Amino acid sequence: MDELADELYVKQNWRGPLIRRVLLLVGACLLLGLISGQYAWALVLGLGGYLGWHLRQLLRLHQWLRTRQANEPPPDGYGLWGEVFDNIYHLQRRDQKARGRLQAVIDRVQESTAALKDAVIMLDRDGNLEWWNLAAEKLLGLQTPQDSGQLITNLVRDPRFIEYFEGSNYQEPLELPSPINDRCRLQFHVTQYGNRELLMLVRDITRLYQLEQMRKDFVANVSHELRTPLTVIAGYLETLLDNVEAVNPRWLRALQQMQQQGGRMQSLLNDLLLLAKLEATDYPSDNQPVAVDLLLLSIKSDALALSAERGHRISLEADPHLKLKGSEAELRSAFSNLVFNAVKYTPAAGEIQIRWWGDEQGAHLAVRDNGPGIEAKHLPRLTERFYRVDSSRASNTGGTGLGLAIVKHVLLRHRARLEIVSSLGKGSTFTCHFPALQAVRRGQ
Ligand code: ADP
Repeated sequence: MDELADELYVKQNWRGPLIRRVLLLVGACLLLGLISGQYAWALVLGLGGYLGWHLRQLLRLHQWLRTRQANEPPPDGYGLWGEVFDNIYHLQRRDQKARGRLQAVIDRVQESTAALKDAVIMLDRDGNLEWWNLAAEKLLGLQTPQDSGQLITNLVRDPRFIEYFEGSNYQEPLELPSPINDRCRLQFHVTQYGNRELLMLVRDITRLYQLEQMRKDFVANVSHELRTPLTVIAGYLETLLDNVEAVNPRWLRALQQMQQQGGRMQSLLNDLLLLAKLEATDYPSDNQPVAVDLLLLSIKSDALALSAERGHRISLEADPHLKLKGSEAELRSAFSNLVFNAVKYTPAAGEIQIRWWGDEQGAHLAVRDNGPGIEAKHLPRLTERFYRVDSSRASNTGGTGLGLAIVKHVLLRHRARLEIVSSLGKGSTFTCHFPALQAVRRGQ
């Protein structure tokens, strides 16, 4: 209705009436000039009066705009001026209403986000705090209004958060303890919006974290507890088999199988314990440059021993000047898992290439074989625990199903990622990509 009224006000065309009025005025002046014989004076008087009247209206408008209180209607105007007054008044009213509506929407959004249990924090493109809700104060200890305009990295000072925030790769959320309460575990999600501003959502995942922790502890404890009885059983089996002549021949095969399965169980427990250890901390405690070329050399000779009479051809090409910051023991276990898998799954006399090189993206290790390959549908799930492409194939090789899960964890702890390229019947390539900050060149 209002909009219709606004339109009606501006629709009237004033050109005709104005011209008519000016002509009427000039006519009246000329008539006055005819009566008085003073045409010029009559015209000056008439037009001067008309101009004075317009100036007065203009001044009234200016006065009203200057001293106007909220919603105060404009002064009464006559003709075109009256319409100009009314139009300005209508436009202002419309503007006020639109602003009121917008404010109501903003208030509602702010009220609902303020009531959220998750922290919502708005940051400008440089990471300075612009707005946050009540939960952000509870979870991160932000203070209103002192912290407004502060850099988020000055308030959440954990180095992992700073690295994540400055890395600008927010695809995966980050988990950290709360800066104000160690026992509270938080998950940070950062999203870019608008003009590269940032929206940060922080969730309290303490309960989920505790459950996850319980699961990890349970697996670690069970593995640990099973290790002792298994060592005893394996020890007795070994003793029995060492004295093979004293053993009833009917039992010999059974004992041998028991020993073989016992060995499998032991490597399963070892892998489970290693995984539990890897999960216990975010980054390895030692971060010394590791000579990967020498490490690969020793893995290669172990792989040749594993291959034995199956006669794989294993080639190694490694940059001797390129080292990698990290834990040697963890890297050895990851790399040997990849190389041993290639030996295990590639048929006899197959070819395996190990390559270690660096470029501007970082350092890379590739293990390539010309074995059976893996169907594309299995690739995304390959690093899951106990995931096997073909259970019969895995049981032949005595694998635990945990090898690639260990590789994934070790790589995560070294800020690296695993890329698997494989095509059925042609072979597979497993490549570990390490970021440049983990690599060390000789002379650096
Ligand atoms: P496993 O202990 O069974 O080897 P892994 O986690 O190391 O467990 O590997 C998971 C599965 O991935 C294996 O069961 C196997 O099917 C497949 N796989 C791993 N490496 C290769 C490879 N080089 N060639 C073909 N298949 C492979």
